[in-house]
Amino acid sequence: MIRLRDVSFRYETAGASGAQAPVALRQVSFAVPQGGFRWLLGPSGAGKSSLLRLLALGARPTTGTLELLGTSIAPARRAALARLRRRIGVVHQDFRLLPDLPVFDNVALPLRLQRRPEDEVRDEVHAILDWVGLGSRAAARPPQLSGGEQQRVAIARAVIHRPALVLADEPTNALDEHQATRLMDLFRDLSGLGTTIVVATHNDALIRRRPAHALELAHGRLVRDG
Ligand code: ADP
Ligand code: ADP
Repeated sequence: MIRLRDVSFRYETAGASGAQAPVALRQVSFAVPQGGFRWLLGPSGAGKSSLLRLLALGARPTTGTLELLGTSIAPARRAALARLRRRIGVVHQDFRLLPDLPVFDNVALPLRLQRRPEDEVRDEVHAILDWVGLGSRAAARPPQLSGGEQQRVAIARAVIHRPALVLADEPTNALDEHQATRLMDLFRDLSGLGTTIVVATHNDALIRRRPAHALELAHGRLVRDG
């Protein structure tokens, strides 16, 4: 499902000075099977967001190889990557909702990209909005919502199309404890259904309540896989 071999990653900097950005990931190797759940841990600057960016196909490794959903990324063409991206759900740390679109349309996006019939879209969007407790907010625009509500919209959008892989960057930082626990219940159910899930977090209380296999980064190196 996910396999990295000796992956290193350095951001390309625009500067003409020749000064290079720090290496964000250094020779990282690990694999996650289908339906696997992984915490992604490490202090700020350790490389968690950079790793999630590679897994979300937002950048390619500088060196090393990445295989995702049965596809080897380095040689893959743009069209193949675009198809793969539709099978990945991402909860961004800053939510990345479209501010001018109602909550309904934000959440419907992945289904509309799949050209699903509009009556199905309506049913699925209402079901997932009810599940995240936002059934009455479908017509609101993201800037009218609280941080926790926006985060729940981002979660709904990330899972509505039953992606094969879910990547979440601090998905509980705006949620209360009850909501965070429910999100972990959802992730557990999804992983039971075969969805692979990687969750970057600093939420120690949550990790203690839900001990699970962890990938830990320090200075761009993988220092734990277990
Ligand atoms: P974490 O998510 O664990 O806090 P990051 O992946 O954001 O870690 O950062 C890893 C390293 O990459 C840090 O040295 C950081 O400064 C650098 N970095 C992160 N984002 C960028 C970027 N967009 N451009 C250049 N360097 C970046
Ligand atoms: P509550 O605490 O309100 O009873 P639960 O935490 O028990 O809610 O979970 C509600 C149910 O929603 C879970 O059993 C979960 O299986 C289900 N569910 C899982 N994935 C989805 C999804 N993508 N859309 C809607 N419901 C889902």
